[in-house]
Amino acid sequence: YGEISLKDIDQLAKSSFPLCMRHLYEKLREDHHLKHAGRMQLGLFLKGVGLNVDDSLAFWREEFSKKVGLEKFEKNYAYNIRHNYGKEGKKTDYTPYSCQKIILSTPGVGDHHGCPYRHFGEENLRAALSRMGVNSRAMEDVMGKVRNRDYQLACTLTFEALHAAPCDAGINHPNQYFSDSQKLLK
Ligand code: SF4
Repeated sequence: YGEISLKDIDQLAKSSFPLCMRHLYEKLREDHHLKHAGRMQLGLFLKGVGLNVDDSLAFWREEFSKKVGLEKFEKNYAYNIRHNYGKEGKKTDYTPYSCQKIILSTPGVGDHHGCPYRHFGEENLRAALSRMGVNSRAMEDVMGKVRNRDYQLACTLTFEALHAAPCDAGINHPNQYFSDSQKLLK
C-alpha cells in the first residue's frame, strides 16, 4: 500500500481505522502514552498502512514527549520504533498483526491493545461503536455476532455499516480493513 502522510493521520484514523486501532490511537492522543503491546499493535499497523520510519518517529515523539519528555523518549522508545522497521538489532522487518493474533492477545489492566469486540465489556463496546457512527440497527447485528464470539464478523458488519458497502471477503486483518476502506472512499 502507498505512503500516508503524517498530516492526514487524524482524518484517516476516523475514516479508515478498524476499532482496535482507533481505540489505541485515541488513547495515545489522550494519555500521550501506550504500553509496549499497544505500541507494537498500533506501530506495526501504521507501518503497514504506509507511515515511513521518520514520520513514525515524529508521530510517537510528539505524543510521548508530552508525557515522558523528549530525552526519555529518545532513550527508551525511539529504538523500538526503528527496530520495528528493521533498522536496529537483527534487522528483521516485522509484519503487522493479523486479527487472529490480536483476538488471542490478553490485555491486562491499563492495556489498550487487543480486539474491542472480544476484550471490551458490552457497555464500552456499544459506546465505542456509537462514537464511530454505527446506527442502532446495525449495532444489534454487531452485538449478535459478538455474543456468538464471531469477532471478525462483528468487525465486518461494522465495516459494512460505516461504508454502506459489502465486504464479501470478511475482515481478517486490520490493514485489510484499512485498504478496503480507502478503496471505497477514493
Ligand atoms: Fe481489529 Fe480485527 Fe478486531 Fe476488527 S476484528 S477490531 S480489525 S482485531
